[in-house]
Amino acid sequence: MQIVSYGGGVNSTAMLIEMMRRGESCAVILFADTGGERPETYSYTKMFSEWLVARGYPAIVSVQNDGMHRTLEVECLTNKRLPSVVFGYKSCSDKYKRRPFAKWLKSQSLGDDVTVCIGFDADEPHRAARGAASADPYAKRYPLIEWDMGRDECLDTIRAAGLPTPGKSACFFCPNSKVHEILSLPQPLIDRALAIESNAELTVIAGLGRSWRWADLIRADKAQMGLFHRSEDVPCGCYDG
Ligand code: SF4
Repeated sequence: MQIVSYGGGVNSTAMLIEMMRRGESCAVILFADTGGERPETYSYTKMFSEWLVARGYPAIVSVQNDGMHRTLEVECLTNKRLPSVVFGYKSCSDKYKRRPFAKWLKSQSLGDDVTVCIGFDADEPHRAARGAASADPYAKRYPLIEWDMGRDECLDTIRAAGLPTPGKSACFFCPNSKVHEILSLPQPLIDRALAIESNAELTVIAGLGRSWRWADLIRADKAQMGLFHRSEDVPCGCYDG
């Protein structure tokens, strides 16, 4: 049984379109929702789910952490912390992406014959190698790598299907966000991200930018000071396209 891990971005969108075009089966499509995705990711996922259903594929099912804190944002605010990826740890991604996915699969008693299709593309085989090394209780498959589809081929596939290109899928307050991504957030999301940052009790880092605070970036941008030309480009464990 094939199950798709849908991330809401370019890669997994293209993977599903291509699976359908090749006549592949797909029993379940799961989207692990941290609760902090950008509004355009939620709206794209809803639109794409309807597109898939209209063509005979299953609807996209959202799963979330069902522990003490349902969303990463609430956990950060309650515990006065920033997402762990700010320190280089992947536990935020593990807790709000990988574990809800694995727990949902386990709860369905689907048996041993489960293969999860993951949308790492042919330009990023290192991520598949890392994924293969992790001890998940299901087989994994990387169709885009099998089909030698890199980023450009993924974009072509989405365009050829007549669909709009999805935006980057990640938490709007992700410390791995680039400067232009932060500055393009709508004001309500900037306010929520800055609330997380100002509420956090920090000692060894300055803020969501690690050595700098998003609040200072926003202030400098408004004053057109141009002090923040680049941010660290750290590969995000949740990145999808
Ligand atoms: S997008 Fe960033 S903050 Fe959100 S779970 Fe993934 S690594 Fe953590």
